[in-house]
Amino acid sequence: MEIITAVKGFKDILPPETDKWRHIENTAYNVFRTFGFSEICIPLIEKTELFRRGIGESTDIVEKEMYTFLDRGEESLTLRPEATASVIRAYLEHTLHAVESVTRLFTIGPMFRRERPQKGRYRQFYQIDVEILGPDDPRTDAELILMLMHFLDRLGLKNLTLEINSLGCDECRPTFREAIVQFLRGTEKELCEDCRRRIGTNPLRVFDCKVEKCGEIISQAPRLMDFVCVDCREHFTQVEDRLTLFAIPYTVNAKMVRGLDYYTRTTFEVKTESLGAQNAILGGGRYDHLVRDLGGPDISGIGFAIGMERLAALIPDKEKNPADSPFLFIAAIGDKAVDKAFFLSNRLRMRGIRVETDYSGRSLKSQMKRADKLKSSFVLIIGEREVSENRALFRNMHTSSQEEIGLDKLEETIMKIAR
Ligand code: AMP
Repeated sequence: MEIITAVKGFKDILPPETDKWRHIENTAYNVFRTFGFSEICIPLIEKTELFRRGIGESTDIVEKEMYTFLDRGEESLTLRPEATASVIRAYLEHTLHAVESVTRLFTIGPMFRRERPQKGRYRQFYQIDVEILGPDDPRTDAELILMLMHFLDRLGLKNLTLEINSLGCDECRPTFREAIVQFLRGTEKELCEDCRRRIGTNPLRVFDCKVEKCGEIISQAPRLMDFVCVDCREHFTQVEDRLTLFAIPYTVNAKMVRGLDYYTRTTFEVKTESLGAQNAILGGGRYDHLVRDLGGPDISGIGFAIGMERLAALIPDKEKNPADSPFLFIAAIGDKAVDKAFFLSNRLRMRGIRVETDYSGRSLKSQMKRADKLKSSFVLIIGEREVSENRALFRNMHTSSQEEIGLDKLEETIMKIAR
């Protein structure tokens, strides 16, 4: 019979890759906790309306990438394509804003977008998502970016470029919108069909277009940075000054608009040269009206989302950690000995000792080979006679020395050496 395979664009993460993921998550957890963040867990499924309102009707995600279904014909639900809208939904639903004036949250988990699967682009992918909700102090922007770069540094990542931009606010964006619409109208015939449509729906999205010809035209377009108002300019300068204070290298990318509608003012991405076409490992920015647009009070926010797959791809496979090897391997020959091995190994495991054994009744030679391969520090060899005499051969695999020990004493002996 044929085996059933995973759905296209959905992939398994196998060991030892999972160790790397655990390492990333632990590092994230430690760094974020130090910067005052708490973990939040949110559902994978939300009401479709949340993303329509939160991300924006005319974004690629909402227009064509969401996994939306009618739950038994009753309610339109969607597998979350990103975390920010859900985090804010939870923040509002549980009135977290009444608890503290600044709320710092992070969450790690899978997101779902029905994009064309390719290397580095999946339909289920994992994000590390971090959000700060509270006043729109530019120090918050700088601190978030600072923490992010520190986190990437702790993971040992090199050759990354941080790009930042300002997307302006409700004051200055309309003037820019007018300028860009005028520019696009002048070049309409040469644009792709999507971009032509975007002129009427969401002109800023043209900056994200992947069509080469559009890219050429749009490189000549007016730049948002030249239109930002005095307040937005000041906010941006303040962020830049603080990044400089911490010697964080960055470039200003005036064409970066990000794929979601909710961003205002500071936006940023971190890119790498090492991953080919999918070179953005994370994106983020400020969203000063999202909380209000989702029915809450006028509270600003800023956050980022890191793609786990891309992050993991940048981290070299680690040498096998000696701590991952078993402390003891019990090689047992004969049914009674295997039973003894079952008993002893599980007793020791419950006391925190990593033990491997083998119930297969294979030859001593092949069991010793396995102990060697696993890099076990010690091996206990038990045969039928040893069981009846209540003793066994205890071998130090590093020094190759061995001695007989009483099976009654085994637990205590092991606990003493392991300490
Ligand atoms: P976004 O939520 O679109 O701002 O994306 C933030 C980050 O998530 C990107 O920089 C990628 O690292 C990652 N990402 C987004 N979409 C995908 C995908 N389809 N497959 C893998 N990673 C993704």
